[in-house]
Amino acid sequence: MKIIGIGRNYGAHAKELNNAIPDEPIVFMKPDTALVKGNKPFFYPDFSADVHHELEIVIKICRVGKNIAENFANRYFEELTVGIDFTARDIQQKSKEKGHPWETAKAFDNSAPVGIFVPKTDFPNVHNLHFGLNLNDKKVQSGDTSEMIFSFEYLIAYASRFFTLQMGDLIFTGTPAGVGPVKPGDHLVAEIEGRVLLDFEVK
Ligand code: ZN
Repeated sequence: MKIIGIGRNYGAHAKELNNAIPDEPIVFMKPDTALVKGNKPFFYPDFSADVHHELEIVIKICRVGKNIAENFANRYFEELTVGIDFTARDIQQKSKEKGHPWETAKAFDNSAPVGIFVPKTDFPNVHNLHFGLNLNDKKVQSGDTSEMIFSFEYLIAYASRFFTLQMGDLIFTGTPAGVGPVKPGDHLVAEIEGRVLLDFEVK
C-alpha cells in the first residue's frame, strides 16, 4: 500500500506557514513503513529537533482506479479516520529553501499514525465533519472538512491521474491551522465529531 499526502489544503494553515494558497493540490508520498496503527507510540526521531503534529482526515481507498472521474470518486472510499502527518519542520524548511524534495521531512519511519477507520456512512455528511486534536488535554488543532480547498473527490480524481489507486491506499487530506511541535512524553488524542479514533504517546 502507499500513503498519499496533500499539502496546504486548508487556507488558514497555508497562511500560518506563510505559503500561498495552491491552485492545484500539492502531492507527496509516504511509504508503508511510515504507517503506525493500534495507538502504538511515536518514537521521536534523532534527526530532527522540531517534529510537528499535523492533524488530518485520512480516507482509505476501497477499489482499484486510474483516471477516476471526480463525479464517481465518492465510490472509491468507504471509510475514514484521523491521522497525524508528522513533519520534521526543520528539515522541511531547509528543503524548501533549497528547492529539494520533502521525503526526509515527511516520509520517515512511523511518520503516519492513523486511527480506527469508521464507515463514512456513520456521518450524515463527510463534507461537513468537525475534527480536532488534543495535546496533553489541551485543544491545539480543530478543523472542518467544509474548509478544504480541494474535496476528497477532487483529490482522488487528481491523484489517480498520476498514480493507480489500489485497495488499502491512504490519502492524508491536509491539515487545518494549529500545527506545532511535539516532545517525548506528549499525549495526543484526535477525534471526529467528538468520537475519539486515535490516542497515543510520544516517546
Ligand atoms: Zn500534512
